[in-house]
Order: sequence, then structure tokens, then C-alpha cells
Amino acid sequence: MFAPRTKERCSRIRKINTRDFHIATRTTSRDINRRIALNLIREHQPISRADLARRMNMTRGVVSILVQELIAQGVIFEGATGEAARGRKPTFLHIRTRDRLAIAVDVRFSKTYLMLCDFSGRQLALEAHDTIFGVPEFIRDLSVRIRRMLKTHNARATCEGIGVVIPGMVDQRTGLILNAPALGWRSVDIRDKLAVATGLPVQIENSGRACTLAQLWLVRGEATGPNSFLFISVSDGVGVGMVVNGELVRGHDDIAGEFGHMPLSLDGPRCMCGSSGCWEAYISNLATLSRYFGWNLSKLNPNSLRDAEHTSFTVSDLVVRARGGDAKAIAAIQATARFLGLGLGTIVNIANPDCIFMDGEITTAWDLIEGTVRQALSERALTESAARTPLRISLAHESPRLRGAAALIAAPSFAAPRVA
Ligand SMILES: [Zn+2]
Repeated sequence: MFAPRTKERCSRIRKINTRDFHIATRTTSRDINRRIALNLIREHQPISRADLARRMNMTRGVVSILVQELIAQGVIFEGATGEAARGRKPTFLHIRTRDRLAIAVDVRFSKTYLMLCDFSGRQLALEAHDTIFGVPEFIRDLSVRIRRMLKTHNARATCEGIGVVIPGMVDQRTGLILNAPALGWRSVDIRDKLAVATGLPVQIENSGRACTLAQLWLVRGEATGPNSFLFISVSDGVGVGMVVNGELVRGHDDIAGEFGHMPLSLDGPRCMCGSSGCWEAYISNLATLSRYFGWNLSKLNPNSLRDAEHTSFTVSDLVVRARGGDAKAIAAIQATARFLGLGLGTIVNIANPDCIFMDGEITTAWDLIEGTVRQALSERALTESAARTPLRISLAHESPRLRGAAALIAAPSFAAPRVA
């Protein structure tokens, strides 16, 4: 009888790509162990060397060498002295975040937000201005604002880069924005031009995916957090990021996970992408407001979306009316809730995540809509356990998009090295 000789489960084995591989070198095993140590410190800080050695199942001596290397790299530091039952008191290890800074930029249809923060995502400064749609003007204006913010906070020397999130698809190889429909941007370069204008490295990413990265890298105390999850951001559009086994899924051409454009109906309302009946066209802020005001979504175009974004009445206002007993407002958000749940049902059948995180104005009404969302989700989910997939709401004050932009700069130092 054939018996498998390794303990590796077949479902978790990964094929070596013979066209794109990374050869192991003399230092590879130490690189891997150093990253493991760094991530354990991140999750359990403050942590002593002895505790770290225990968690890594290695000797104190070997772990001390790894720790010295991480201190020399400037990614961790030794902090306060702890209590020990007897003998020498241990010093605790911490991730160095407070004096490593990043600029986070969240570009939306209506406003562009700019945040100075440290590597843990902690906000040091925040400002917002009306989004400029002309690309050269956008870059010129943004670089002036960034330089001013860094100067005001004396942060030029400690800022390690700029993370930009946009509502659109980004080619990670070239940094080009492939398509951001509501901004009217196609094949637009922001990354390299902004880097030249500011003299800082720039990373750019789709906003839904960036929220996912923030969830993966900047949430503290989540040592046992989910390894396979989605982040769904419902606002002007629907941004989605999908993580499978700790890795953000990008797909062949960087468009994987665009669940906002799965069709709920073939003859539904027109979507910003040019198609009709997409999930986004049923649950976006504009869709919800259209239900309330009786607008015909199919007759609206990106320009009218921008106009609608500039009107003062928002989904948050609609939620306030619903709480006040306005029957039309209640009907509008409950209809959105039902479509939200139907889409989630399809998503859990496709991706079967541990958990789904959500944010956006409609989720501020979660206590009113959770029942409707769950009912619709369970109608579609193929198993009872899929129907019970945890749905967790991110709070608006956590600014997941800006934290996602910060994660673009802060996260790479924690990522697993690529081998084989
Ligand atoms: Zn669409």
C-alpha cells in the first residue's frame, strides 16, 4: 500500500514555478527565521528573548543572534525591563514603528485624504481637499501638499514612502492605473511621477485591496486572526480584496476579486463599468440614494455620479432618517441590505473565507440591516456553515483605506521571503 511520506496535506502543497523561481542561498534559512522572529515579535510584543525562543522552538543563543540582526536593521528595539521570578530581569522587544513614518493618500471621487502616520498606522496629521481630476494638476497639487505636511511635522527624514489608494484597477508591475471609471482615469501613471515630484518611493494600490492589506498587517492583537478573508468596502463603488492562505489574490492581470462587477441580473441598472446589473449597481451609495429619491440609475453617468457625490445628502444622512422612522428611508436601506446579502451568498460559495470584513456608510446601519443581510446570505449559501460566515464591520474612525495606504509602505518588511 502506498503511504504518503510527508505530513504535508495535499491541499496545502504549492507547485514550484519553473519560469519564475527564487533560488535558496547560503543565507536563506536565516532570512526566513529572522522574518518569523519579526512577525512573532509583532504579534506578541512586548516579548522577551526567552519567550521568543520558546515560541520558535529554538535555543536562546540562536534567537539572540536573530534579534541582534533585527536591532541592527532598525526594525525592532529593546524596551522596558520586565519582571522575572529570579535571576536577570529580561528586556522586552518591540517593533520599531513610532519613528518610522509614511504618507497615506486616499483618492476618492469627492475628496482626497492625506494622512501622516507611523508604521503602526497611528495618525499624526490628517487633511482633505476636493479631488482634482486632471492628472498633471493632481500630481502637482498633491506633491506640494505632501512636502508641506512633512515640513510642518518635521518628518522629511523619517518618512519612508507614500502609499496611494485609488478606486480602480492597478497594474502592480508597471504601477499604471489601468481603469478608474469614476475618476475618468485610464492607463494613467501616478506612481512614478509622484515619486519624482516628491523624491520619495511611492506605492499604489486599489482601495479595496489596500483595506485588505491593512487588515492583514496593521491590526494588532490578531495573532490568531483569519488567514483567508475578504474585505468589502461599500461606498461610491464596491472595493473588494481577497486573501487566501495569508496572500492577497491578484490574478494574472491584477483584476482578481472584482466581485463588485458580478452580475445579479442581466437587465439590471447600469454600472460604472459599462455593463448592467452588477452587484455594485445595486448596493453602492448612489444605488441606495437613487432608491430613496427615485432616480433612474441607468440614466446616470460618471459625471452625474460626481455631481451626486457633491450633493450634501449622503447615505449616512439616509441612515439618520431611517432611525427617525422615515418609511422610505427604511425601505431604501433594507433593499440595499437584501442585495448586499445575496452578493455575499455568492461570494461565500466561491471563496469560502474564514471571515468577511466590511466598511462603508451603509454598514453604519448594521444594527438595522444585519437580519436582512444574513437572511439573504443564508438563502444563497450552499452549506449551513457557509451561511454562518462571520461578518465583521470596520468602524469608520479606523479609516481602513488610509491605513491600507500606510500598509503599502509598512507591510513589505514583515512579508514572508519568497523561496522556490
Ligand atoms: Zn460593473
